[in-house]
Amino acid sequence: MRDLRPQRWFLSAGAAPSSQVRSMQRAHPNMPARRYRRALRSIPLLVVLCGLALSFRQGLVPWYLNPLPAIDLADPSPPFADWRLAAMRYNPDLCRRVLVAPYVEVEPIADHPLQDGCGWTNAVRMSSAGGVRAGFDKITCEAATALALWLEYGVQPAAQDTFGQRVVAVQSYGTYACRNIVGAKFWKNRRSEHAIANAIDIAGFTLADGQHISVRRQWRGDGPEARFLRAAHDSACAYFRVVLGPDFNPEHHDHFHLDRGMSWVCG
Ligand SMILES: [Zn+2]
Repeated sequence: MRDLRPQRWFLSAGAAPSSQVRSMQRAHPNMPARRYRRALRSIPLLVVLCGLALSFRQGLVPWYLNPLPAIDLADPSPPFADWRLAAMRYNPDLCRRVLVAPYVEVEPIADHPLQDGCGWTNAVRMSSAGGVRAGFDKITCEAATALALWLEYGVQPAAQDTFGQRVVAVQSYGTYACRNIVGAKFWKNRRSEHAIANAIDIAGFTLADGQHISVRRQWRGDGPEARFLRAAHDSACAYFRVVLGPDFNPEHHDHFHLDRGMSWVCG
């Protein structure tokens, strides 16, 4: 027959000193309560940390309290890139210090206060970034910086690896457009990041030898063009918060949508 008294045997065999066993027996029932109290005590700290992280993420930490240095366009993978990009959102001085030649060619433009959810603040006119002709008449400073980093450290290495040459121009469907989000099931009535010039649509690239690479025509397949486009798309996720391509939904079959809004999607 099966021995139904294994615990009694264990105790009587002296495998653990009786005092130790008693303390184990005492500790066990109290443990959940202690853990519960400890968890309760840590809630205020968690709330503070979450609030702090959100403030950094939204660029709400005043410059004189922000310990993070200004983002550097010479650095391909800046630590805390997302928070350092966000710090530029409401800081035109920081924008002027970061967006400098030879990495970009930009000039600041006047703010256009929001009307009906559309407008822009702290934006620039861009003519080139990362050695690429990239002409945009209005793009937020934050998105322009992310674009410059992506073109220099995401797109150019991918082009060099795949084709042995650089990209010299991008084809775009633009930045600013006063409209709602297109193609989203749950956000149909929400303004797009394009409505505040904080997004950009990239349709293709031109290589130094004049060859055009098109998202619409060459995203699918295993050829070098498709490999380059996938590498370019994936590398954008290091600098932009939302990166949508042809695999995300039919509305993006012919371009990459890149933005620095609230959401976080790499698809
Ligand atoms: Zn878009």
